[in-house]
Amino acid sequence: MSQWVIKGIRTGIKTTGYPGTEELAPGVTPGLPRGASIGADAAALAQRCPTQALRHEDGKISVDYRRCVHCYRCARGLPHPLQWRTGYEWAGTGASGRPENAFGEPFRRSVHILVVDAGDCGACLNEVKQLNNPYYNMHRLGFFITPTPRHADVLLVVGPVTDQMRFALKKIYEAMPAPKRVVAAGACALSGGVFAGSFACAEGVGSLLPVDVEVPGNPPPPLAILHGLLVAAGRKPPAALAGH
Ligand code: SF4
Repeated sequence: MSQWVIKGIRTGIKTTGYPGTEELAPGVTPGLPRGASIGADAAALAQRCPTQALRHEDGKISVDYRRCVHCYRCARGLPHPLQWRTGYEWAGTGASGRPENAFGEPFRRSVHILVVDAGDCGACLNEVKQLNNPYYNMHRLGFFITPTPRHADVLLVVGPVTDQMRFALKKIYEAMPAPKRVVAAGACALSGGVFAGSFACAEGVGSLLPVDVEVPGNPPPPLAILHGLLVAAGRKPPAALAGH
């Protein structure tokens, strides 16, 4: 935070230049674990992961980013820790099968987003909230929050979708006009996270709705969510992280 304040005083610019320029300020992203060949220790390392996000085969570790909850157990206190990738353009395509650029020219300048807390612990929702602050200022990109599904183009869901929220979420989705896109943000929304298959929820948004864009992270940093919105609007290509 202090680095951002110093940058603002030095340059007079408080808002990030992303997506026009890459954001290199310290602290804007925690990174993601990166798969690697680590030999005989691979099985033991995979077992340390509390959400089975790590898989091993022939001494090679791969990471299922939909399950990673950023616990750092694969990075700390180990003789061969996994290296972490930097950056924040993590958003990938979901399984909806809808075209990547569903909106086209009429939506180039203005996209309205309905945010739904589907059992979120507060972490992902807090990162979404940051998009409205002066540093991320998503309004400059034509992204606006709307409280009503009738005005919404994008449904942004956080949380594992608790059983109490399933009916409401389905009704909200059905009330949105077409074309529409669904963005699931955070490990819980993608896979259920640590709550997957519990007494209170299923396994994320994809178990109920067709998801267009998936944003890994627990929670994902604001720039990763912003990348997801840009992917949903057809203004940025999706990342291809699966299995790396
Ligand atoms: S940081 Fe992610 S991949 Fe590593 S152990 Fe934790 S949940 Fe598993």
